[in-house]
Amino acid sequence: MTAVIGAGCRGCGACLLTCPEHAVRPGGPLLVLADLCNDCGECVEICPADTIEVIDD
Ligand code: SF4
Ligand code: SF4
Repeated sequence: MTAVIGAGCRGCGACLLTCPEHAVRPGGPLLVLADLCNDCGECVEICPADTIEVIDD
């Protein structure tokens, strides 16, 4: 499982600041590093654009 950032991202940076594993890396678009993601779902909860999903990878 890993979080994936969708096309609706507004670039607010909340997921990047919230991730306990520092798995969200800056860039355009933001990227979640699957090897670091622990599937906690905190980024999903905090995203104001509701554009992050945790998927089976
Ligand atoms: S919290 Fe959502 S809108 Fe904000 S940067 Fe992350 S994916 Fe984009
Ligand atoms: S699910 Fe948790 S560990 Fe994975 S990117 Fe989101 S906040 Fe980070």
